[in-house]
Amino acid sequence: MSTQARVAILGFGLTGRIAALMLAERYQISVFEQAKQGTESSAGSVAAAMLAPLAESVICDEALALQGLESMKLWPQLLAKLESPVFFQQQGSLIVAHGQDRGDLVSFQQRLKPLKDHSAEVVNGAQIAQLEPELSGVFHQGLYLPCEGQLDNQAFYQSSAATLTKQGVEINYGVHCDAAQKAQLSQAYDWVIDCRGLGAKATCYGLRGVRGEVARIYAPEVTLTRPVRLMHPRYPIYIAPKPDHQFVIGATEIESQDNGEITVRSTLELLSAAYSVHRGFAEARVLSLLAGLRPAFKDNHPKIEQQGNVISINGLYRHGYLLAPLIVKQALSKELL
Ligand SMILES: Cc1cc2nc3c(=O)[nH]c(=O)nc-3n(C[C@H](O)[C@H](O)[C@H](O)COP(=O)(O)OP(=O)(O)OC[C@H]3O[C@@H](n4cnc5c(N)ncnc54)[C@H](O)[C@@H]3O)c2cc1C
Repeated sequence: MSTQARVAILGFGLTGRIAALMLAERYQISVFEQAKQGTESSAGSVAAAMLAPLAESVICDEALALQGLESMKLWPQLLAKLESPVFFQQQGSLIVAHGQDRGDLVSFQQRLKPLKDHSAEVVNGAQIAQLEPELSGVFHQGLYLPCEGQLDNQAFYQSSAATLTKQGVEINYGVHCDAAQKAQLSQAYDWVIDCRGLGAKATCYGLRGVRGEVARIYAPEVTLTRPVRLMHPRYPIYIAPKPDHQFVIGATEIESQDNGEITVRSTLELLSAAYSVHRGFAEARVLSLLAGLRPAFKDNHPKIEQQGNVISINGLYRHGYLLAPLIVKQALSKELL
């Protein structure tokens, strides 16, 4: 393959950016993104960007969770390609429950799948206070999942766009690619990588959206050093601490294609549950309340498809940050890497 081969990437969300970063040094790349510059319409920009293979093993099969563990290892290499540093941590996550919800914690623990050498550690109140001093006296039971991590997706979006632009990648914003345009691009380019997420729904059999809502808040009175999940019978939430006292509180999961604004009910549930974890959230400032649609297939597994010179990567569901580095690498490895 000549180094001058031309690659079109459709969609500049999470997978599109990862594909561009993996290919930019070897190919001439053009990106086509439907959102206008400075606006976002991707699930990846809404997400909490937690890397949680062990916690997610409760709702996915073991093979997928193991892929997640492999995939996490690729993030530092990807982030090293970027011009400005992006917050990435692997300091584990903490699972807690209020006394009356102990049953939910036990049930969660029982459903965790063993992932090679990685397992959950049962922690008591003193150990919770050691891990997260500001939760001292609030929780007396929990689980610590040392293998887990997270990153700052907003910084990743900004830094990847700046880096790729500097590398000469042509990013065309405000271009909606439908099936006809995709066919045209496959004539004009050596390769087309379709990373349109839910935007590919019309021609991607079985693809559906799974609604998720999050709050991003600024809470100068709260210091947490790692993601914290609250087990609750009705409002299970996570709190992912990002740099500068920003926190992503999420996420609802609703089987709906509705991508309208976050509802009052979800807002109340997310913020009340967060307040029950740490009283310092009372005076926090709400920076954004967002909703997005996770692209998913029936089995909630990602799918790579190739037709001629068109490679499609989709169905990352609620595991895009966890799985995309590995899945995109697999998709590109056969022909392009
Ligand atoms: C609330 C929420 C929380 C989440 N939290 C996590 C988490 O903590 N950890 C985790 O691993 N995953 C998480 N996810 C999942 C993750 O965000 C998705 O799996 C991932 O973003 C999917 O990547 P994608 O590139 O396929 O789609 P997207 O990120 O949605 O990107 C698709 C891009 O294609 C563009 N596009 C669409 N149609 C067209 C078109 N016709 N022409 C041109 N461009 C088009 C879109 O504008 C968008 O920019 C979360 C998702 C949500 C919604």
